[in-house]
Amino acid sequence: MSVLEKMSSAEAIALEDKFGAHNYHPLPVVLSKGNGVFVWDVEGKKYYDFLSAYSAVNQGHCHPKIVGAMMEQAQTLTLTSRAFYNDKLGVYEKYMSDYFGFDKVLPMNTGAEAVETALKICRKWAYEKKGIPENDAQIIVCENNFHGRTTTIISFSNDENARKNFGPYTAGFIKIAYDDIDALEKAITASKNIAGFLVEPIQGEAGVYVPSTDYLAKAKALCEANNVLFMADEVQTGIARTGSLLAVCGNCTCEAKCEKQASYVQPDVLILGKALSGGAYPVSAVLANDSIMNVIKPGQHGSTFGGNPVAAAVAMVALDIVSEENLAQNAKALGQLFRDKLNEYIVTSSIVKLVRGKGLLNAIVINDTEDSETAWNICMKLAENGLLAKPTHGNIIRFAPPLVMTEYQLLDCVGIIINTLKEFEK
Ligand SMILES: *Cc1c(COP(=O)(O)O)cnc(C)c1O
Repeated sequence: MSVLEKMSSAEAIALEDKFGAHNYHPLPVVLSKGNGVFVWDVEGKKYYDFLSAYSAVNQGHCHPKIVGAMMEQAQTLTLTSRAFYNDKLGVYEKYMSDYFGFDKVLPMNTGAEAVETALKICRKWAYEKKGIPENDAQIIVCENNFHGRTTTIISFSNDENARKNFGPYTAGFIKIAYDDIDALEKAITASKNIAGFLVEPIQGEAGVYVPSTDYLAKAKALCEANNVLFMADEVQTGIARTGSLLAVCGNCTCEAKCEKQASYVQPDVLILGKALSGGAYPVSAVLANDSIMNVIKPGQHGSTFGGNPVAAAVAMVALDIVSEENLAQNAKALGQLFRDKLNEYIVTSSIVKLVRGKGLLNAIVINDTEDSETAWNICMKLAENGLLAKPTHGNIIRFAPPLVMTEYQLLDCVGIIINTLKEFEK
Protein backbone atom coordinates (compact mmCIF):
# COMPACT_ATOMS: atom_id res chain seq x y z
CA MET A 1 0.00 0.00 0.00
CA SER A 2 2.96 2.32 0.47
CA VAL A 3 3.17 2.77 -3.30
CA LEU A 4 -0.49 3.81 -3.42
CA GLU A 5 -0.04 6.27 -0.59
CA LYS A 6 2.55 8.14 -2.60
CA MET A 7 0.50 8.20 -5.78
CA SER A 8 0.04 11.59 -7.42
CA SER A 9 -3.26 12.76 -8.92
CA ALA A 10 -1.79 12.40 -12.40
CA GLU A 11 -0.83 8.77 -11.77
CA ALA A 12 -4.24 7.87 -10.32
CA ILE A 13 -6.02 9.47 -13.28
CA ALA A 14 -3.73 7.68 -15.75
CA LEU A 15 -4.59 4.32 -14.14
CA GLU A 16 -8.34 4.90 -14.37
CA ASP A 17 -7.95 6.11 -17.90
CA LYS A 18 -6.01 3.06 -19.04
CA PHE A 19 -7.69 0.27 -17.06
CA GLY A 20 -11.19 1.55 -16.37
CA ALA A 21 -14.11 1.74 -18.77
CA HIS A 22 -14.69 5.33 -19.83
CA ASN A 23 -18.30 5.51 -18.65
CA TYR A 24 -17.79 8.73 -16.63
CA HIS A 25 -16.12 12.07 -17.25
CA PRO A 26 -14.85 13.15 -13.81
CA LEU A 27 -13.32 16.45 -12.85
CA PRO A 28 -9.55 15.85 -12.63
CA VAL A 29 -9.48 15.72 -8.82
CA VAL A 30 -8.32 12.57 -7.00
CA LEU A 31 -9.84 12.25 -3.53
CA SER A 32 -8.39 10.10 -0.78
CA LYS A 33 -10.11 11.27 2.41
CA GLY A 34 -13.42 12.69 3.59
CA ASN A 35 -14.77 14.08 6.85
CA GLY A 36 -18.11 15.86 7.29
CA VAL A 37 -18.50 18.49 4.57
CA PHE A 38 -14.85 18.20 3.49
CA VAL A 39 -12.82 15.97 1.19
CA TRP A 40 -9.06 15.94 0.57
CA ASP A 41 -7.14 15.03 -2.57
CA VAL A 42 -4.00 12.90 -2.69
CA GLU A 43 -1.83 16.02 -2.59
CA GLY A 44 -3.53 17.05 0.64
CA LYS A 45 -5.65 19.91 -0.77
CA LYS A 46 -8.91 20.36 1.13
CA TYR A 47 -12.26 20.99 -0.58
CA TYR A 48 -15.86 21.61 0.38
CA ASP A 49 -17.87 18.79 -1.20
CA PHE A 50 -20.77 20.46 -3.01
CA LEU A 51 -22.05 17.32 -4.73
CA SER A 52 -22.21 14.82 -1.83
CA ALA A 53 -21.91 11.90 -4.26
CA TYR A 54 -25.12 13.02 -6.00
CA SER A 55 -26.86 13.50 -2.63
CA ALA A 56 -25.80 10.17 -1.12
CA VAL A 57 -23.59 11.70 1.58
CA ASN A 58 -26.29 13.87 3.20
CA GLN A 59 -25.05 12.88 6.69
CA GLY A 60 -21.49 14.01 5.84
CA HIS A 61 -18.42 11.97 4.93
CA CYS A 62 -17.43 9.15 7.26
CA HIS A 63 -19.99 10.01 9.94
CA PRO A 64 -18.55 8.31 13.04
CA LYS A 65 -21.89 6.74 14.03
CA ILE A 66 -22.39 5.22 10.59
CA VAL A 67 -18.79 4.00 10.40
CA GLY A 68 -19.13 2.58 13.93
CA ALA A 69 -22.34 0.69 13.14
CA MET A 70 -20.88 -0.60 9.89
CA MET A 71 -17.68 -1.85 11.55
CA GLU A 72 -19.54 -3.50 14.37
CA GLN A 73 -21.89 -5.33 12.01
CA ALA A 74 -19.05 -6.18 9.60
CA GLN A 75 -17.24 -7.94 12.41
CA THR A 76 -20.35 -9.90 13.37
CA LEU A 77 -22.24 -10.97 10.26
CA THR A 78 -22.15 -9.49 6.75
CA LEU A 79 -24.29 -11.66 4.50
CA THR A 80 -26.62 -14.60 4.84
CA SER A 81 -28.52 -14.17 1.58
CA ARG A 82 -32.29 -14.35 1.85
CA ALA A 83 -32.12 -18.14 1.83
CA PHE A 84 -32.08 -17.76 5.63
CA TYR A 85 -33.41 -15.19 8.10
CA ASN A 86 -31.03 -12.82 9.86
CA ASP A 87 -31.46 -10.96 13.12
CA LYS A 88 -31.11 -7.47 11.60
CA LEU A 89 -33.48 -7.46 8.62
CA GLY A 90 -36.79 -7.63 10.48
CA VAL A 91 -35.66 -4.95 12.92
CA TYR A 92 -34.65 -2.75 10.00
CA GLU A 93 -37.91 -3.35 8.14
CA LYS A 94 -39.94 -2.38 11.19
CA TYR A 95 -37.77 0.70 11.65
CA MET A 96 -38.31 1.73 8.01
CA SER A 97 -42.02 1.03 8.19
CA ASP A 98 -42.39 3.25 11.29
CA TYR A 99 -40.06 5.95 9.99
CA PHE A 100 -41.77 6.41 6.63
CA GLY A 101 -45.29 5.24 7.44
CA PHE A 102 -45.76 2.26 5.11
CA ASP A 103 -46.81 -1.32 5.88
CA LYS A 104 -43.85 -2.94 4.18
CA VAL A 105 -40.40 -2.46 2.72
CA LEU A 106 -38.59 -4.38 -0.01
CA PRO A 107 -34.83 -3.95 0.42
CA MET A 108 -32.45 -3.62 -2.53
CA ASN A 109 -28.99 -2.10 -3.03
CA THR A 110 -28.84 0.56 -5.74
CA GLY A 111 -31.32 3.21 -6.80
CA ALA A 112 -31.81 1.69 -10.23
CA GLU A 113 -32.66 -1.67 -8.65
CA ALA A 114 -35.22 -0.01 -6.44
CA VAL A 115 -36.82 1.69 -9.46
CA GLU A 116 -36.88 -1.66 -11.29
CA THR A 117 -38.49 -3.20 -8.23
CA ALA A 118 -41.18 -0.51 -8.17
CA LEU A 119 -41.91 -1.04 -11.87
CA LYS A 120 -42.26 -4.80 -11.35
CA ILE A 121 -44.54 -4.35 -8.34
CA CYS A 122 -46.63 -1.85 -10.30
CA ARG A 123 -47.09 -4.16 -13.28
CA LYS A 124 -47.96 -7.14 -11.12
CA TRP A 125 -50.45 -5.07 -9.13
CA ALA A 126 -51.98 -3.89 -12.41
CA TYR A 127 -52.63 -7.44 -13.62
CA GLU A 128 -53.61 -9.04 -10.33
CA LYS A 129 -55.48 -6.21 -8.56
CA LYS A 130 -56.59 -3.73 -11.17
CA GLY A 131 -57.38 -6.38 -13.77
CA ILE A 132 -55.48 -5.00 -16.74
CA PRO A 133 -55.14 -7.68 -19.47
CA GLU A 134 -51.76 -9.41 -19.34
CA ASN A 135 -48.90 -7.53 -21.06
CA ASP A 136 -51.05 -4.43 -21.66
CA ALA A 137 -50.02 -2.39 -18.61
CA GLN A 138 -48.69 1.10 -19.29
CA ILE A 139 -46.66 3.23 -16.88
CA ILE A 140 -46.56 6.99 -17.30
CA VAL A 141 -43.17 8.69 -16.88
CA CYS A 142 -41.94 12.25 -17.39
CA GLU A 143 -39.75 13.82 -20.03
CA ASN A 144 -36.18 14.50 -18.91
CA ASN A 145 -36.51 11.92 -16.14
CA PHE A 146 -33.54 10.25 -14.51
CA HIS A 147 -34.26 6.94 -12.80
CA GLY A 148 -31.00 5.04 -13.32
CA ARG A 149 -29.13 3.06 -15.93
CA THR A 150 -30.70 -0.36 -16.50
CA THR A 151 -31.95 -1.44 -19.92
CA THR A 152 -35.60 -0.91 -18.95
CA ILE A 153 -34.99 2.43 -17.26
CA ILE A 154 -33.05 3.92 -20.17
CA SER A 155 -35.82 2.66 -22.44
CA PHE A 156 -37.99 5.52 -21.17
CA SER A 157 -35.25 8.12 -20.88
CA ASN A 158 -35.07 10.87 -23.46
CA ASP A 159 -31.37 11.51 -22.93
CA GLU A 160 -29.99 10.40 -26.29
CA ASN A 161 -26.54 9.79 -24.87
CA ALA A 162 -27.95 7.47 -22.19
CA ARG A 163 -30.15 5.61 -24.71
CA LYS A 164 -28.59 5.44 -28.14
CA ASN A 165 -27.52 1.98 -29.33
CA PHE A 166 -28.81 0.22 -26.21
CA GLY A 167 -32.04 -0.92 -27.88
CA PRO A 168 -34.31 -2.75 -28.39
CA TYR A 169 -36.14 -0.92 -25.65
CA THR A 170 -38.60 -2.18 -23.05
CA ALA A 171 -42.18 -1.37 -24.06
CA GLY A 172 -45.01 -0.20 -21.83
CA PHE A 173 -44.10 3.38 -20.98
CA ILE A 174 -45.81 6.64 -21.91
CA LYS A 175 -43.80 9.84 -21.66
CA ILE A 176 -45.46 13.15 -20.79
CA ALA A 177 -44.17 16.64 -19.98
CA TYR A 178 -43.04 17.18 -16.37
CA ASP A 179 -44.99 19.59 -14.18
CA ASP A 180 -47.89 19.53 -16.64
CA ILE A 181 -51.01 18.34 -14.83
CA ASP A 182 -53.15 18.57 -17.98
CA ALA A 183 -50.77 16.23 -19.81
CA LEU A 184 -51.05 13.76 -16.94
CA GLU A 185 -54.83 13.95 -16.88
CA LYS A 186 -54.98 13.37 -20.63
CA ALA A 187 -52.64 10.36 -20.49
CA ILE A 188 -54.25 8.83 -17.42
CA THR A 189 -57.79 9.05 -18.78
CA ALA A 190 -56.90 8.05 -22.37
CA SER A 191 -56.60 4.35 -21.54
CA LYS A 192 -57.94 1.76 -19.12
CA ASN A 193 -54.50 0.16 -19.03
CA ILE A 194 -52.57 2.74 -17.03
CA ALA A 195 -50.91 1.01 -14.08
CA GLY A 196 -48.76 3.73 -12.55
CA PHE A 197 -47.20 7.16 -12.69
CA LEU A 198 -43.46 7.27 -11.92
CA VAL A 199 -42.18 10.73 -11.00
CA GLU A 200 -39.27 12.53 -9.37
CA PRO A 201 -40.75 15.10 -6.93
CA ILE A 202 -37.96 17.40 -8.12
CA GLN A 203 -36.03 16.49 -11.27
CA GLY A 204 -32.44 16.42 -10.01
CA GLU A 205 -30.32 15.12 -12.87
CA ALA A 206 -32.30 17.15 -15.40
CA GLY A 207 -30.99 20.29 -13.68
CA VAL A 208 -32.97 20.63 -10.43
CA TYR A 209 -36.43 21.43 -11.79
CA VAL A 210 -38.86 22.15 -8.96
CA PRO A 211 -42.47 21.64 -10.11
CA SER A 212 -45.33 24.00 -9.24
CA THR A 213 -46.41 23.85 -5.60
CA ASP A 214 -49.56 21.83 -6.15
CA TYR A 215 -48.27 19.55 -8.93
CA LEU A 216 -47.59 16.49 -6.78
CA ALA A 217 -50.85 16.77 -4.84
CA LYS A 218 -52.87 17.11 -8.04
CA ALA A 219 -50.96 14.24 -9.66
CA LYS A 220 -51.68 12.05 -6.66
CA ALA A 221 -55.37 12.96 -6.77
CA LEU A 222 -55.54 12.07 -10.47
CA CYS A 223 -53.83 8.73 -9.78
CA GLU A 224 -56.24 7.99 -6.95
CA ALA A 225 -59.30 8.88 -9.02
CA ASN A 226 -58.16 6.56 -11.81
CA ASN A 227 -56.84 3.67 -9.70
CA VAL A 228 -53.27 4.29 -10.84
CA LEU A 229 -50.23 3.89 -8.55
CA PHE A 230 -48.42 7.13 -7.68
CA MET A 231 -44.74 6.15 -7.50
CA ALA A 232 -42.29 8.72 -6.13
CA ASP A 233 -38.62 8.28 -6.97
CA GLU A 234 -37.01 10.00 -3.99
CA VAL A 235 -33.59 8.44 -4.51
CA GLN A 236 -32.08 11.92 -4.87
CA THR A 237 -34.67 14.18 -3.21
CA GLY A 238 -35.30 12.00 -0.15
CA ILE A 239 -33.69 11.77 3.29
CA ALA A 240 -33.88 15.49 4.17
CA ARG A 241 -32.12 16.79 1.04
CA THR A 242 -34.86 19.21 0.02
CA GLY A 243 -35.62 20.56 3.49
CA SER A 244 -38.14 17.93 4.54
CA LEU A 245 -37.69 14.21 5.19
CA LEU A 246 -39.09 13.53 1.71
CA ALA A 247 -39.82 16.00 -1.06
CA VAL A 248 -43.43 14.73 -0.97
CA CYS A 249 -43.65 16.03 2.62
CA GLY A 250 -43.93 19.52 1.15
CA ASN A 251 -43.26 22.20 3.75
CA CYS A 252 -43.18 19.84 6.74
CA THR A 253 -39.73 19.79 8.34
CA CYS A 254 -40.35 17.13 10.98
CA GLU A 255 -37.84 14.32 10.80
CA ALA A 256 -40.35 11.55 10.23
CA LYS A 257 -43.39 11.21 8.03
CA CYS A 258 -46.33 13.09 9.42
CA GLU A 259 -49.76 12.39 7.95
CA LYS A 260 -51.31 15.34 9.72
CA GLN A 261 -49.46 17.82 7.56
CA ALA A 262 -51.72 19.11 4.82
CA SER A 263 -48.73 19.38 2.50
CA TYR A 264 -47.87 15.65 2.67
CA VAL A 265 -48.59 13.72 -0.52
CA GLN A 266 -48.58 10.01 0.29
CA PRO A 267 -47.03 7.96 -2.53
CA ASP A 268 -48.45 4.49 -3.18
CA VAL A 269 -44.90 3.37 -3.85
CA LEU A 270 -41.89 5.18 -2.39
CA ILE A 271 -38.42 4.61 -3.84
CA LEU A 272 -35.34 5.42 -1.74
CA GLY A 273 -31.59 4.99 -2.18
CA LYS A 274 -28.47 7.13 -2.04
CA ALA A 275 -28.53 8.85 1.41
CA LEU A 276 -30.45 5.95 2.96
CA SER A 277 -26.96 4.75 3.91
CA GLY A 278 -25.31 8.15 4.27
CA GLY A 279 -23.10 7.16 1.37
CA ALA A 280 -21.35 4.43 3.31
CA TYR A 281 -22.81 1.43 1.52
CA PRO A 282 -25.26 0.76 -1.31
CA VAL A 283 -28.70 0.59 0.30
CA SER A 284 -32.00 1.16 -1.49
CA ALA A 285 -35.60 0.33 -0.68
CA VAL A 286 -39.13 0.33 -2.00
CA LEU A 287 -41.96 1.01 0.45
CA ALA A 288 -45.66 0.33 -0.05
CA ASN A 289 -48.72 -0.79 1.86
CA ASP A 290 -49.84 -4.43 2.01
CA SER A 291 -52.51 -4.17 -0.69
CA ILE A 292 -49.71 -3.38 -3.15
CA MET A 293 -46.61 -5.05 -1.72
CA ASN A 294 -48.34 -8.38 -1.16
CA VAL A 295 -48.51 -9.02 -4.91
CA ILE A 296 -44.86 -10.09 -4.65
CA LYS A 297 -44.53 -13.76 -3.67
CA PRO A 298 -41.45 -15.91 -3.00
CA GLY A 299 -39.25 -16.36 -6.04
CA GLN A 300 -40.71 -13.41 -7.96
CA HIS A 301 -38.12 -10.80 -7.05
CA GLY A 302 -34.93 -10.57 -5.02
CA SER A 303 -31.27 -9.73 -4.65
CA THR A 304 -28.41 -11.63 -3.02
CA PHE A 305 -27.26 -8.55 -1.11
CA GLY A 306 -30.63 -6.83 -0.64
CA GLY A 307 -31.44 -6.50 3.05
CA ASN A 308 -28.07 -7.79 4.25
CA PRO A 309 -27.18 -7.16 7.92
CA VAL A 310 -24.56 -4.49 7.18
CA ALA A 311 -27.01 -2.55 4.99
CA ALA A 312 -29.68 -2.83 7.69
CA ALA A 313 -27.37 -1.65 10.47
CA VAL A 314 -26.01 1.23 8.38
CA ALA A 315 -29.41 2.47 7.18
CA MET A 316 -30.95 2.57 10.66
CA VAL A 317 -28.09 4.69 12.00
CA ALA A 318 -28.11 6.88 8.88
CA LEU A 319 -31.80 7.64 9.51
CA ASP A 320 -31.23 8.15 13.26
CA ILE A 321 -28.75 10.87 12.32
CA VAL A 322 -31.29 12.62 10.09
CA SER A 323 -33.57 12.99 13.13
CA GLU A 324 -30.94 13.60 15.82
CA GLU A 325 -29.09 16.26 13.87
CA ASN A 326 -32.22 17.95 12.47
CA LEU A 327 -30.94 17.63 8.93
CA ALA A 328 -34.25 18.53 7.28
CA GLN A 329 -34.53 21.78 9.24
CA ASN A 330 -30.89 22.59 8.54
CA ALA A 331 -31.28 21.90 4.82
CA LYS A 332 -34.33 24.14 4.69
CA ALA A 333 -32.70 27.06 6.49
CA LEU A 334 -29.33 26.86 4.73
CA GLY A 335 -30.98 26.31 1.34
CA GLN A 336 -32.99 29.51 1.76
CA LEU A 337 -29.86 31.40 2.80
CA PHE A 338 -27.94 29.98 -0.19
CA ARG A 339 -30.58 31.06 -2.71
CA ASP A 340 -31.00 34.47 -1.06
CA LYS A 341 -27.26 35.15 -1.25
CA LEU A 342 -26.96 33.96 -4.85
CA ASN A 343 -30.06 35.89 -5.88
CA GLU A 344 -28.46 39.04 -4.47
CA TYR A 345 -25.42 38.37 -6.65
CA ILE A 346 -27.36 37.47 -9.79
CA VAL A 347 -28.89 40.94 -9.99
CA THR A 348 -25.55 42.32 -11.20
CA SER A 349 -24.26 39.16 -12.92
CA SER A 350 -23.93 38.55 -16.63
CA ILE A 351 -22.68 34.97 -16.22
CA VAL A 352 -25.45 33.47 -14.04
CA LYS A 353 -29.05 33.66 -15.18
CA LEU A 354 -30.79 32.12 -12.21
CA VAL A 355 -30.58 29.96 -9.12
CA ARG A 356 -33.31 27.45 -8.30
CA GLY A 357 -33.91 24.56 -5.96
CA LYS A 358 -35.34 23.48 -2.66
CA GLY A 359 -33.52 22.88 0.60
CA LEU A 360 -29.92 22.04 -0.21
CA LEU A 361 -30.65 20.72 -3.70
CA ASN A 362 -29.95 23.73 -5.89
CA ALA A 363 -28.59 24.66 -9.29
CA ILE A 364 -27.42 27.74 -11.13
CA VAL A 365 -27.97 28.23 -14.83
CA ILE A 366 -24.96 29.65 -16.63
CA ASN A 367 -25.57 32.29 -19.26
CA ASP A 368 -24.10 30.34 -22.17
CA THR A 369 -25.18 27.68 -24.68
CA GLU A 370 -25.80 24.12 -23.49
CA ASP A 371 -22.84 22.81 -25.48
CA SER A 372 -20.44 25.46 -24.16
CA GLU A 373 -17.51 24.67 -21.88
CA THR A 374 -18.28 27.51 -19.48
CA ALA A 375 -19.97 25.48 -16.72
CA TRP A 376 -17.15 22.90 -16.83
CA ASN A 377 -14.55 25.69 -16.68
CA ILE A 378 -16.33 27.28 -13.72
CA CYS A 379 -16.29 23.91 -11.91
CA MET A 380 -12.55 23.59 -12.63
CA LYS A 381 -12.02 27.04 -11.15
CA LEU A 382 -14.25 26.23 -8.16
CA ALA A 383 -12.06 23.18 -7.49
CA GLU A 384 -8.97 25.34 -7.64
CA ASN A 385 -10.67 27.63 -5.13
CA GLY A 386 -11.51 24.72 -2.81
CA LEU A 387 -15.07 23.69 -3.69
CA LEU A 388 -16.19 20.66 -5.71
CA ALA A 389 -19.28 20.76 -7.91
CA LYS A 390 -20.15 19.26 -11.28
CA PRO A 391 -22.14 20.49 -14.26
CA THR A 392 -25.32 18.58 -15.06
CA HIS A 393 -26.52 18.96 -18.63
CA GLY A 394 -24.13 21.47 -20.13
CA ASN A 395 -24.77 24.90 -18.70
CA ILE A 396 -26.28 23.94 -15.33
CA ILE A 397 -24.23 23.49 -12.14
CA ARG A 398 -25.80 21.55 -9.28
CA PHE A 399 -24.99 22.52 -5.68
CA ALA A 400 -25.75 19.83 -3.10
CA PRO A 401 -23.46 19.90 -0.05
CA PRO A 402 -23.76 17.48 2.88
CA LEU A 403 -26.66 18.51 5.13
CA VAL A 404 -24.42 18.63 8.22
CA MET A 405 -23.01 21.93 6.99
CA THR A 406 -23.02 24.90 9.39
CA GLU A 407 -24.19 28.39 8.52
CA TYR A 408 -20.64 29.67 8.85
CA GLN A 409 -19.40 27.06 6.36
CA LEU A 410 -22.25 27.76 3.97
CA LEU A 411 -21.43 31.48 3.91
CA ASP A 412 -17.77 30.61 3.34
CA CYS A 413 -18.88 28.50 0.35
CA VAL A 414 -21.13 31.25 -1.00
CA GLY A 415 -18.05 33.49 -0.88
CA ILE A 416 -16.00 30.96 -2.87
CA ILE A 417 -18.78 30.49 -5.44
CA ILE A 418 -19.38 34.22 -5.95
CA ASN A 419 -15.66 35.06 -6.14
CA THR A 420 -15.20 32.28 -8.69
CA LEU A 421 -18.16 33.44 -10.78
CA LYS A 422 -16.70 36.97 -10.76
CA GLU A 423 -13.66 35.63 -12.61
CA PHE A 424 -16.03 34.70 -15.47
CA GLU A 425 -18.01 37.93 -15.69
CA LYS A 426 -17.53 39.65 -19.01
C1 LIG B 1 -29.22 8.37 -8.66
C2 LIG B 1 -30.63 8.15 -8.99
C3 LIG B 1 -31.13 6.88 -9.34
C4 LIG B 1 -30.23 5.69 -9.55
O1 LIG B 1 -29.51 5.33 -8.41
P1 LIG B 1 -28.23 4.40 -8.56
O2 LIG B 1 -27.86 4.06 -7.15
O3 LIG B 1 -27.17 5.21 -9.26
O4 LIG B 1 -28.63 3.22 -9.37
C5 LIG B 1 -32.49 6.75 -9.54
N1 LIG B 1 -33.33 7.79 -9.43
C6 LIG B 1 -32.88 9.03 -9.11
C7 LIG B 1 -33.87 10.15 -8.98
C8 LIG B 1 -31.53 9.26 -8.88
O5 LIG B 1 -31.09 10.48 -8.59
